[in-house]
Amino acid sequence: MLRKTWLEINLDNFKKNCQYLIDHTNKKLIAVIKANGYGLGDRYLAKCAIDAGCSMLAVSSIEEALIVREITDKDILILGYVDPKEADYLKKYDISCAVVSLSWVKELINEDCKGVKVHLKVDTGMNRIGIKDKKELKEAYDLLVSHGVEVEGIFTHYACSDDLNSNFTNEQFAKFKEAYDYLNVPFKYIHCDNSDAAIDFKDDLTNAIRCGIAMLGYASNDKDLLPVCSLYTQITNVKKVNKGETIGYGATYRLDEDEIIATIPIGYADGFIRRNQGRKVYVDGIYAPLVGRICMDQCMIKLPYMIENRTKVELFGEHISLKLMAKELDTITYEILCNLSSRLTRIYILDGKKCMECNSRLETINNGTF
Ligand SMILES: *Cc1c(COP(=O)(O)O)cnc(C)c1O
Repeated sequence: MLRKTWLEINLDNFKKNCQYLIDHTNKKLIAVIKANGYGLGDRYLAKCAIDAGCSMLAVSSIEEALIVREITDKDILILGYVDPKEADYLKKYDISCAVVSLSWVKELINEDCKGVKVHLKVDTGMNRIGIKDKKELKEAYDLLVSHGVEVEGIFTHYACSDDLNSNFTNEQFAKFKEAYDYLNVPFKYIHCDNSDAAIDFKDDLTNAIRCGIAMLGYASNDKDLLPVCSLYTQITNVKKVNKGETIGYGATYRLDEDEIIATIPIGYADGFIRRNQGRKVYVDGIYAPLVGRICMDQCMIKLPYMIENRTKVELFGEHISLKLMAKELDTITYEILCNLSSRLTRIYILDGKKCMECNSRLETINNGTF
């Protein structure tokens, strides 16, 4: 690593979280590694999820499925829309996909679809993709089967599993069960739960869970999960600045007294968005406020005393939880992770030590493997 601004990904904790989810639910784990594994590296997470005993990998598009297919023969499910015209890819690379609607099914059966694998998506309240009406669902199922499509699974997706006190999840599950009972046919995979539901919602019908964020250590109830990901940089410039001077673009921060200001090499081009202005970072055992605007590649912090160049700075991790950061930025952990840019070097920890370092844009400095 040259510029010392990096994302540290603890694969030991990732595996433990996967194992926890499997043990806690006693169901098959469908490891959701869409969007490049929420920004952390889909192939590496896939390998570790497989090591930890997952049954299937889930992604959001054909491109993502092909990326993961290069490293594993494991079952792969595409959760989002696939154009039925791409059925050849599904067959060639043995990838399953979601049934989006009855009209989607009618398009698929016009293609060479024999041998394609699908999971029926029941829309129980998300109103995103899936079939709502149980008679349409039955029609879709019959059309698929009569055209040689393998209907490998049935699933739905909860809209409010982060608030299980509301009755929404119960109502969605009841609709799902009704659709399932109406079809009255066996499925290899029956799955409703995302991370929050897998942890706290119980049902006696499903045999698999689809988890993403919980494998990374975050969920509404994360008391049994271990955080996987931390973001660090280091101090690159420290100086005294006089009372009355200002910091950064727009001169938004004016000093009321002489202060010590340090610069750190991270900015919005790393996914550390401008809204972070005024929040705190952790350095040398203290919390230091970000002063002035966040620039594209750098930003400034106010220190209570001189701290040496090259001192490590935590943006989130052990001392500043990603959940707290999300709350302060009025967003969710998912969005912060997905926005971390490819410019950040990723350092992977396995068996307690650094096993690999990579910058997807600069292969020459990459090293290590697992
Ligand atoms: C992203 C996604 C998941 C995983 O959600 P988490 O909250 O990260 O566990 C599960 N199912 C579907 C359909 C998804 O799109």
